[in-house]
Amino acid sequence: GNVINFRDVAKRLHDHYHVLPKTTNDLELIMYTFASELRVKDLDRISVVDIFDAVETTQELVKGAYATVTIIAGHGLLAFTDPLGIRPLVLGRRDTPDGPVYAFASESTCFDYLDFEFVENVGPGQAIFIDNDFKVHYKNQPALPKAFCVFEQIYFAREDSTIHGRLVARERVRLGKIIARKVVDAGLKPDMVIDVPSSGYFSASGLAEAIGVPYRRAMVKNNHMGRSFIVPTQAGREDVVKKKLNPIRAFVEGKKVAVVDDSIVRGTTSRRIVRLLRDAGAAEVYFISSAPPIVSPCIYGIDMAMSTELIAANYSEQEICQFIEADKVIYQDLSDLQDLFAEERGHGGSCFACFTGKYPTGDVTRYLRHIQEERQSHRIVDKVPSVSAKAPLPTEH
Ligand code: SF4
Repeated sequence: GNVINFRDVAKRLHDHYHVLPKTTNDLELIMYTFASELRVKDLDRISVVDIFDAVETTQELVKGAYATVTIIAGHGLLAFTDPLGIRPLVLGRRDTPDGPVYAFASESTCFDYLDFEFVENVGPGQAIFIDNDFKVHYKNQPALPKAFCVFEQIYFAREDSTIHGRLVARERVRLGKIIARKVVDAGLKPDMVIDVPSSGYFSASGLAEAIGVPYRRAMVKNNHMGRSFIVPTQAGREDVVKKKLNPIRAFVEGKKVAVVDDSIVRGTTSRRIVRLLRDAGAAEVYFISSAPPIVSPCIYGIDMAMSTELIAANYSEQEICQFIEADKVIYQDLSDLQDLFAEERGHGGSCFACFTGKYPTGDVTRYLRHIQEERQSHRIVDKVPSVSAKAPLPTEH
Protein backbone atom coordinates (compact mmCIF):
# COMPACT_ATOMS: atom_id res chain seq x y z
CA GLY A 1 0.00 0.00 0.00
CA ASN A 2 0.90 3.64 0.23
CA VAL A 3 0.46 6.37 2.85
CA ILE A 4 -0.59 9.64 1.23
CA ASN A 5 -0.27 11.91 4.28
CA PHE A 6 3.18 10.65 5.23
CA ARG A 7 4.54 14.07 6.27
CA ASP A 8 1.52 14.90 8.44
CA VAL A 9 1.71 11.57 10.22
CA ALA A 10 5.47 11.88 10.72
CA LYS A 11 5.01 15.42 12.10
CA ARG A 12 2.32 14.28 14.50
CA LEU A 13 4.54 11.46 15.76
CA HIS A 14 7.20 14.04 16.47
CA ASP A 15 4.90 16.65 18.04
CA HIS A 16 2.83 14.27 20.18
CA TYR A 17 5.21 11.46 21.01
CA HIS A 18 8.68 12.90 20.34
CA VAL A 19 9.24 10.10 17.87
CA LEU A 20 11.46 10.96 14.92
CA PRO A 21 10.91 8.13 12.48
CA LYS A 22 13.97 7.90 10.27
CA THR A 23 12.16 6.12 7.50
CA THR A 24 10.62 6.55 4.09
CA ASN A 25 8.89 3.20 4.48
CA ASP A 26 5.11 3.51 4.70
CA LEU A 27 4.66 0.37 6.73
CA GLU A 28 7.21 1.48 9.29
CA LEU A 29 5.36 4.78 9.69
CA ILE A 30 2.06 2.93 10.22
CA MET A 31 3.71 0.71 12.81
CA TYR A 32 5.31 3.67 14.60
CA THR A 33 1.86 5.26 14.79
CA PHE A 34 0.23 2.10 16.03
CA ALA A 35 2.98 1.45 18.61
CA SER A 36 2.80 5.06 19.87
CA GLU A 37 -0.95 4.78 20.36
CA LEU A 38 -0.57 1.44 22.12
CA ARG A 39 2.21 2.73 24.36
CA VAL A 40 -0.14 5.19 26.08
CA LYS A 41 -2.13 2.23 27.43
CA ASP A 42 -1.13 0.25 30.47
CA LEU A 43 1.63 -1.84 28.91
CA ASP A 44 1.56 -4.41 31.71
CA ARG A 45 -2.06 -5.19 31.03
CA ILE A 46 -2.71 -4.68 27.32
CA SER A 47 -6.17 -5.92 26.42
CA VAL A 48 -7.74 -6.70 23.07
CA VAL A 49 -9.81 -3.51 23.47
CA ASP A 50 -6.57 -1.51 23.86
CA ILE A 51 -5.15 -3.07 20.70
CA PHE A 52 -8.28 -2.33 18.68
CA ASP A 53 -8.40 1.23 20.07
CA ALA A 54 -4.85 1.79 18.85
CA VAL A 55 -5.79 0.34 15.45
CA GLU A 56 -8.79 2.65 15.20
CA THR A 57 -6.73 5.75 15.96
CA THR A 58 -4.09 4.62 13.46
CA GLN A 59 -6.76 4.19 10.80
CA GLU A 60 -8.09 7.68 11.52
CA LEU A 61 -4.65 9.25 11.28
CA VAL A 62 -3.07 7.40 8.38
CA LYS A 63 -4.64 8.11 4.98
CA GLY A 64 -4.06 5.90 2.00
CA ALA A 65 -4.14 2.21 1.19
CA TYR A 66 -2.61 -0.46 3.36
CA ALA A 67 -2.96 -4.04 4.47
CA THR A 68 -0.74 -4.70 7.48
CA VAL A 69 0.25 -7.73 9.50
CA THR A 70 2.28 -7.37 12.67
CA ILE A 71 3.37 -9.36 15.69
CA ILE A 72 2.80 -7.72 19.06
CA ALA A 73 5.59 -9.29 21.08
CA GLY A 74 4.25 -11.52 23.82
CA HIS A 75 0.62 -10.98 22.81
CA GLY A 76 -0.19 -12.25 19.32
CA LEU A 77 -0.65 -11.57 15.64
CA LEU A 78 -2.56 -8.52 14.39
CA ALA A 79 -3.80 -7.69 10.90
CA PHE A 80 -5.74 -4.64 9.71
CA THR A 81 -6.55 -2.76 6.55
CA ASP A 82 -7.22 0.86 5.65
CA PRO A 83 -10.82 2.02 6.22
CA LEU A 84 -11.73 1.56 2.53
CA GLY A 85 -10.05 -1.82 2.16
CA ILE A 86 -8.29 -0.74 -1.03
CA ARG A 87 -5.66 -3.50 -0.92
CA PRO A 88 -6.74 -7.11 -0.34
CA LEU A 89 -5.90 -9.15 2.77
CA VAL A 90 -7.11 -12.67 3.56
CA LEU A 91 -7.07 -14.97 6.56
CA GLY A 92 -6.29 -18.69 6.24
CA ARG A 93 -6.25 -21.57 8.72
CA ARG A 94 -4.70 -24.99 8.95
CA ASP A 95 -5.63 -27.54 11.56
CA THR A 96 -2.69 -29.39 13.09
CA PRO A 97 -2.50 -32.03 15.86
CA ASP A 98 -1.43 -29.18 18.17
CA GLY A 99 -4.38 -27.00 17.26
CA PRO A 100 -5.13 -24.45 14.52
CA VAL A 101 -2.45 -22.35 12.79
CA TYR A 102 -3.36 -19.05 11.11
CA ALA A 103 -1.85 -17.07 8.27
CA PHE A 104 -2.57 -13.74 6.61
CA ALA A 105 -1.75 -13.08 2.98
CA SER A 106 -2.54 -10.55 0.29
CA GLU A 107 -3.84 -13.29 -2.01
CA SER A 108 -5.70 -16.50 -1.31
CA THR A 109 -3.68 -18.48 -3.83
CA CYS A 110 -0.80 -19.21 -1.44
CA PHE A 111 -3.18 -21.02 0.89
CA ASP A 112 -3.67 -23.71 -1.77
CA TYR A 113 -0.06 -24.78 -1.87
CA LEU A 114 0.59 -24.20 1.84
CA ASP A 115 -2.39 -26.44 2.66
CA PHE A 116 -4.26 -23.69 4.43
CA GLU A 117 -7.98 -23.28 4.17
CA PHE A 118 -9.34 -19.88 3.16
CA VAL A 119 -11.30 -18.46 6.11
CA GLU A 120 -12.28 -14.94 5.07
CA ASN A 121 -11.33 -11.59 3.61
CA VAL A 122 -10.19 -8.95 6.07
CA GLY A 123 -12.90 -6.39 5.33
CA PRO A 124 -12.50 -2.63 4.86
CA GLY A 125 -11.22 -1.14 8.11
CA GLN A 126 -11.46 -4.47 9.88
CA ALA A 127 -8.83 -5.69 12.34
CA ILE A 128 -8.24 -9.30 13.34
CA PHE A 129 -6.12 -10.20 16.35
CA ILE A 130 -5.04 -13.76 17.09
CA ASP A 131 -3.83 -14.08 20.65
CA ASN A 132 -1.19 -16.46 21.97
CA ASP A 133 -3.89 -19.02 22.76
CA PHE A 134 -4.93 -18.91 19.07
CA LYS A 135 -8.21 -17.25 19.91
CA VAL A 136 -9.40 -15.01 17.07
CA HIS A 137 -10.76 -11.54 17.96
CA TYR A 138 -12.50 -9.18 15.53
CA LYS A 139 -12.86 -5.45 15.36
CA ASN A 140 -15.41 -4.70 12.71
CA GLN A 141 -15.65 -1.33 11.10
CA PRO A 142 -19.15 0.17 10.93
CA ALA A 143 -20.53 0.05 7.39
CA LEU A 144 -18.40 2.51 5.45
CA PRO A 145 -17.94 2.99 1.73
CA LYS A 146 -15.51 0.45 0.33
CA ALA A 147 -13.05 0.90 -2.47
CA PHE A 148 -11.41 -2.36 -3.47
CA CYS A 149 -8.73 -1.86 -6.12
CA VAL A 150 -10.27 -2.97 -9.42
CA PHE A 151 -6.81 -3.18 -11.00
CA GLU A 152 -6.06 -6.20 -8.83
CA GLN A 153 -8.75 -8.00 -10.82
CA ILE A 154 -7.51 -6.71 -14.17
CA TYR A 155 -3.77 -7.18 -13.75
CA PHE A 156 -2.11 -7.43 -10.39
CA ALA A 157 -3.57 -10.44 -8.65
CA ARG A 158 -2.76 -13.97 -9.67
CA GLU A 159 -5.42 -15.59 -11.80
CA ASP A 160 -6.07 -18.39 -9.31
CA SER A 161 -6.73 -15.97 -6.44
CA THR A 162 -10.19 -15.19 -5.19
CA ILE A 163 -10.66 -11.58 -4.14
CA HIS A 164 -13.80 -10.61 -2.26
CA GLY A 165 -15.53 -13.75 -3.47
CA ARG A 166 -14.56 -13.36 -7.13
CA LEU A 167 -12.14 -15.65 -8.91
CA VAL A 168 -9.70 -13.38 -10.76
CA ALA A 169 -9.45 -15.69 -13.80
CA ARG A 170 -13.23 -15.66 -14.25
CA GLU A 171 -13.41 -11.87 -14.01
CA ARG A 172 -10.75 -11.58 -16.71
CA VAL A 173 -12.69 -13.91 -19.02
CA ARG A 174 -15.72 -11.67 -18.41
CA LEU A 175 -13.70 -8.58 -19.30
CA GLY A 176 -12.79 -10.23 -22.62
CA LYS A 177 -16.37 -11.18 -23.34
CA ILE A 178 -17.63 -7.69 -22.60
CA ILE A 179 -15.13 -6.01 -24.91
CA ALA A 180 -16.25 -8.30 -27.77
CA ARG A 181 -19.16 -5.95 -28.44
CA LYS A 182 -16.79 -3.08 -29.21
CA VAL A 183 -14.64 -5.28 -31.46
CA VAL A 184 -17.71 -6.28 -33.47
CA ASP A 185 -19.08 -2.70 -33.56
CA ALA A 186 -15.75 -1.51 -34.95
CA GLY A 187 -16.20 -3.94 -37.85
CA LEU A 188 -13.03 -5.88 -36.99
CA LYS A 189 -12.77 -9.46 -38.22
CA PRO A 190 -9.53 -10.85 -36.81
CA ASP A 191 -8.31 -14.27 -37.95
CA MET A 192 -7.18 -15.04 -34.45
CA VAL A 193 -7.06 -13.63 -30.94
CA ILE A 194 -3.77 -13.80 -29.06
CA ASP A 195 -2.72 -12.55 -25.65
CA VAL A 196 0.20 -10.65 -24.20
CA PRO A 197 1.43 -13.19 -21.63
CA SER A 198 0.51 -13.66 -18.93
CA SER A 199 -2.15 -11.25 -17.71
CA GLY A 200 -3.90 -10.97 -21.11
CA TYR A 201 -4.64 -14.68 -21.41
CA PHE A 202 -8.03 -15.00 -19.76
CA SER A 203 -9.44 -11.85 -21.38
CA ALA A 204 -8.15 -13.02 -24.77
CA SER A 205 -9.83 -16.40 -24.39
CA GLY A 206 -13.08 -14.67 -23.38
CA LEU A 207 -12.94 -12.38 -26.40
CA ALA A 208 -12.15 -15.27 -28.81
CA GLU A 209 -15.05 -17.28 -27.44
CA ALA A 210 -17.44 -14.34 -27.75
CA ILE A 211 -16.56 -13.47 -31.35
CA GLY A 212 -16.09 -17.07 -32.50
CA VAL A 213 -12.50 -16.95 -33.76
CA PRO A 214 -9.58 -19.16 -32.66
CA TYR A 215 -7.47 -18.24 -29.69
CA ARG A 216 -3.76 -18.96 -30.05
CA ARG A 217 -0.88 -18.51 -27.66
CA ALA A 218 1.28 -16.82 -30.27
CA MET A 219 3.68 -14.93 -28.04
CA VAL A 220 6.03 -16.85 -25.81
CA LYS A 221 7.17 -15.28 -22.59
CA ASN A 222 10.56 -15.58 -20.99
CA ASN A 223 9.54 -16.08 -17.37
CA HIS A 224 12.88 -14.94 -16.05
CA MET A 225 12.17 -11.30 -16.91
CA GLY A 226 10.31 -8.97 -14.53
CA ARG A 227 7.35 -6.64 -15.11
CA SER A 228 8.28 -4.12 -17.77
CA PHE A 229 6.08 -1.20 -16.70
CA ILE A 230 7.86 -0.73 -13.37
CA VAL A 231 11.34 -0.59 -14.93
CA PRO A 232 12.40 3.05 -14.36
CA THR A 233 13.77 3.96 -17.80
CA GLN A 234 12.28 3.82 -21.27
CA ALA A 235 15.28 2.03 -22.74
CA GLY A 236 15.14 -0.49 -19.90
CA ARG A 237 11.42 -1.15 -20.46
CA GLU A 238 11.90 -1.70 -24.19
CA ASP A 239 14.80 -4.03 -23.52
CA VAL A 240 12.71 -6.06 -21.05
CA VAL A 241 9.85 -6.39 -23.56
CA LYS A 242 12.21 -7.48 -26.33
CA LYS A 243 13.83 -10.17 -24.23
CA LYS A 244 10.58 -11.14 -22.59
CA LEU A 245 8.30 -11.76 -25.57
CA ASN A 246 8.86 -13.70 -28.75
CA PRO A 247 6.07 -14.11 -31.33
CA ILE A 248 5.54 -17.44 -33.11
CA ARG A 249 5.93 -16.48 -36.76
CA ALA A 250 4.20 -19.58 -38.13
CA PHE A 251 1.01 -18.59 -36.28
CA VAL A 252 0.80 -14.89 -37.05
CA GLU A 253 2.30 -14.60 -40.54
CA GLY A 254 -0.23 -13.15 -42.99
CA LYS A 255 -2.95 -13.05 -40.31
CA LYS A 256 -5.15 -10.29 -38.93
CA VAL A 257 -4.33 -10.52 -35.24
CA ALA A 258 -6.27 -9.12 -32.27
CA VAL A 259 -3.76 -8.91 -29.43
CA VAL A 260 -5.18 -8.53 -25.92
CA ASP A 261 -3.23 -6.92 -23.09
CA ASP A 262 -4.45 -5.97 -19.62
CA SER A 263 -3.91 -2.23 -20.20
CA ILE A 264 -1.96 0.49 -21.99
CA VAL A 265 0.10 2.64 -19.62
CA ARG A 266 2.68 4.70 -21.47
CA GLY A 267 2.07 3.09 -24.87
CA THR A 268 5.71 2.25 -25.46
CA THR A 269 5.40 -1.40 -24.43
CA SER A 270 2.26 -1.74 -26.57
CA ARG A 271 4.13 -0.27 -29.53
CA ARG A 272 6.97 -2.75 -29.05
CA ILE A 273 4.45 -5.61 -29.06
CA VAL A 274 2.81 -4.33 -32.25
CA ARG A 275 6.23 -4.06 -33.90
CA LEU A 276 7.18 -7.58 -32.82
CA LEU A 277 3.99 -8.92 -34.41
CA ARG A 278 4.49 -6.97 -37.61
CA ASP A 279 8.10 -8.13 -37.81
CA ALA A 280 6.78 -11.67 -37.48
CA GLY A 281 4.58 -11.07 -40.53
CA ALA A 282 1.16 -10.16 -39.06
CA ALA A 283 -0.99 -8.56 -41.79
CA GLU A 284 -2.98 -6.37 -39.39
CA VAL A 285 -2.70 -5.81 -35.64
CA TYR A 286 -5.65 -4.74 -33.48
CA PHE A 287 -4.62 -3.81 -29.93
CA ILE A 288 -7.27 -4.62 -27.33
CA SER A 289 -6.94 -3.27 -23.77
CA SER A 290 -9.05 -5.09 -21.22
CA ALA A 291 -8.79 -1.98 -19.00
CA PRO A 292 -10.26 1.42 -19.88
CA PRO A 293 -7.84 4.28 -20.62
CA ILE A 294 -5.60 4.99 -17.62
CA VAL A 295 -5.80 8.74 -17.10
CA SER A 296 -4.60 9.27 -13.51
CA PRO A 297 -1.73 7.86 -11.50
CA CYS A 298 -2.35 5.34 -8.76
CA ILE A 299 -1.45 6.81 -5.39
CA TYR A 300 -2.36 3.66 -3.50
CA GLY A 301 0.75 1.58 -4.02
CA ILE A 302 0.80 0.65 -7.70
CA ASP A 303 3.71 2.49 -9.20
CA MET A 304 2.41 3.07 -12.74
CA ALA A 305 3.57 6.47 -13.91
CA MET A 306 2.85 10.16 -13.47
CA SER A 307 -0.02 11.81 -15.38
CA THR A 308 2.44 13.33 -17.82
CA GLU A 309 3.61 9.85 -18.77
CA LEU A 310 0.18 8.23 -19.08
CA ILE A 311 -0.60 8.22 -22.77
CA ALA A 312 -4.38 8.19 -22.34
CA ALA A 313 -4.21 11.25 -20.07
CA ASN A 314 -2.84 13.28 -22.93
CA TYR A 315 -3.95 11.80 -26.23
CA SER A 316 -7.06 10.61 -28.02
CA GLU A 317 -7.67 6.98 -28.91
CA GLN A 318 -6.84 7.74 -32.53
CA GLU A 319 -3.53 9.37 -31.59
CA ILE A 320 -2.68 6.44 -29.33
CA CYS A 321 -3.42 4.04 -32.20
CA GLN A 322 -1.07 6.03 -34.38
CA PHE A 323 1.63 6.07 -31.70
CA ILE A 324 1.58 2.36 -30.98
CA GLU A 325 1.40 1.72 -34.76
CA ALA A 326 -1.66 -0.53 -34.52
CA ASP A 327 -4.40 -0.78 -37.14
CA LYS A 328 -6.98 -0.25 -34.41
CA VAL A 329 -7.04 0.26 -30.65
CA ILE A 330 -10.01 -0.87 -28.61
CA TYR A 331 -10.32 0.00 -24.92
CA GLN A 332 -12.68 -1.49 -22.38
CA ASP A 333 -15.56 0.89 -21.69
CA LEU A 334 -15.32 2.43 -18.22
CA SER A 335 -19.07 2.06 -17.74
CA ASP A 336 -18.87 -1.66 -18.61
CA LEU A 337 -16.07 -2.13 -16.08
CA GLN A 338 -17.99 -0.21 -13.42
CA ASP A 339 -21.06 -2.26 -14.15
CA LEU A 340 -19.12 -5.52 -13.79
CA PHE A 341 -17.79 -4.52 -10.37
CA ALA A 342 -20.84 -2.62 -9.18
CA GLU A 343 -21.82 -2.92 -5.55
CA GLU A 344 -25.21 -4.39 -6.33
CA ARG A 345 -23.43 -7.22 -8.14
CA GLY A 346 -21.89 -8.29 -4.88
CA HIS A 347 -18.39 -6.92 -5.21
CA GLY A 348 -18.72 -3.98 -2.89
CA GLY A 349 -17.56 -0.53 -3.91
CA SER A 350 -14.43 -0.42 -6.03
CA CYS A 351 -11.68 2.10 -6.64
CA PHE A 352 -11.60 3.21 -10.28
CA ALA A 353 -9.42 6.27 -9.66
CA CYS A 354 -6.78 5.52 -12.30
CA PHE A 355 -9.58 5.53 -14.89
CA THR A 356 -11.62 8.43 -13.50
CA GLY A 357 -9.28 10.65 -11.46
CA LYS A 358 -11.78 10.41 -8.58
CA TYR A 359 -9.81 9.22 -5.59
CA PRO A 360 -11.83 7.50 -2.84
CA THR A 361 -9.77 9.04 -0.01
CA GLY A 362 -10.90 12.56 -0.95
CA ASP A 363 -8.92 15.54 -2.16
CA VAL A 364 -5.40 14.39 -3.04
CA THR A 365 -4.23 17.43 -5.02
CA ARG A 366 -1.46 18.22 -2.54
CA TYR A 367 -0.18 14.66 -2.59
CA LEU A 368 -0.25 14.46 -6.40
CA ARG A 369 1.80 17.64 -6.59
CA HIS A 370 4.22 16.26 -4.05
CA ILE A 371 4.85 12.96 -5.90
CA GLN A 372 5.17 14.80 -9.20
CA GLU A 373 7.88 17.04 -7.72
CA GLU A 374 9.57 14.18 -5.93
CA ARG A 375 9.73 11.99 -8.99
CA GLN A 376 10.94 14.77 -11.19
CA SER A 377 13.81 15.47 -8.84
CA HIS A 378 14.77 11.84 -8.13
CA ARG A 379 13.85 9.85 -11.15
CA ILE A 380 16.33 8.61 -13.71
CA VAL A 381 15.51 10.68 -16.80
CA ASP A 382 14.26 8.62 -19.73
CA LYS A 383 16.20 8.78 -22.96
CA VAL A 384 13.00 8.64 -25.03
CA PRO A 385 10.80 11.72 -24.46
CA SER A 386 7.86 10.98 -22.21
CA VAL A 387 4.37 11.95 -23.31
CA SER A 388 3.37 15.28 -21.90
CA ALA A 389 0.26 17.37 -22.25
CA LYS A 390 0.06 19.24 -25.53
CA ALA A 391 3.44 17.86 -26.63
CA PRO A 392 3.64 16.28 -30.06
CA LEU A 393 3.34 12.51 -30.10
CA PRO A 394 6.61 10.96 -29.00
CA THR A 395 8.78 9.61 -31.74
CA GLU A 396 11.78 7.34 -31.50
CA HIS A 397 15.22 8.67 -32.04
S1 SF4 B 1 -6.06 4.01 -8.56
FE1 SF4 B 1 -6.30 2.19 -9.87
S2 SF4 B 1 -4.57 0.87 -9.39
FE2 SF4 B 1 -4.74 2.39 -7.74
S3 SF4 B 1 -6.02 1.43 -6.15
FE3 SF4 B 1 -7.41 2.58 -7.47
S4 SF4 B 1 -8.04 1.10 -9.06
FE4 SF4 B 1 -6.25 0.25 -8.03
